[in-house]
Amino acid sequence: MSTHHSANTTLSNEIFSNTSLNVLQCYQCGKCSAGCPVRNFMIDAPNQVVRYVQLGFDDKALTSSTIWICASCQTCSTRCPQNFDIAKFMDAMRETALNKGIKPSEKDSMEFHKAFLNQIENHGRAYELGLVRDYKLKTLNLMQDVEVAPEMLMKGKLNILPHNVKDKKPVKKIFAKSKGGRK
Ligand code: SF4
Ligand code: SF4
Repeated sequence: MSTHHSANTTLSNEIFSNTSLNVLQCYQCGKCSAGCPVRNFMIDAPNQVVRYVQLGFDDKALTSSTIWICASCQTCSTRCPQNFDIAKFMDAMRETALNKGIKPSEKDSMEFHKAFLNQIENHGRAYELGLVRDYKLKTLNLMQDVEVAPEMLMKGKLNILPHNVKDKKPVKKIFAKSKGGRK
């Protein structure tokens, strides 16, 4: 596909000038969203957020909780047949939303973002059951999505116990350095 940047909407231009990412590279095949490990927690699929920007629905894109639920795991970027770096796009969207003071439309998505980072800080990698526990304790949405838990357990998507990385010190160091930005 041509890499000429011609979506020509406010947000697509902003993203292009800040990151050189051209949203028109995405042809909406959905491979990114199919492999996203936190897709079940999102209302808008990652490729839908790209679509909003392609079509000039800037507010819809910037208020989508998807950009905060995204765990920056890079799976989507490695799967994309168009080499569109969608993980970098999510980063750019978060940064733009923060700069503009735009909050996610679902207030609890920030708590999800923090709960996910807690797992990485404590275990060195994602621990889904810990994520669900921390998120639910923070938001008191104790019964939300409870019906999907048995299916996720069956599919091996929820580990009962965390699998810690061998050496957690480098991860702890990164978090210690960036603590200023998160509470
Ligand atoms: S995999 Fe790439 S081309 Fe396909 S929808 Fe996702 S970002 Fe777009
Ligand atoms: S980087 Fe974000 S959007 Fe992409 S697969 Fe990972 S969690 Fe999903």
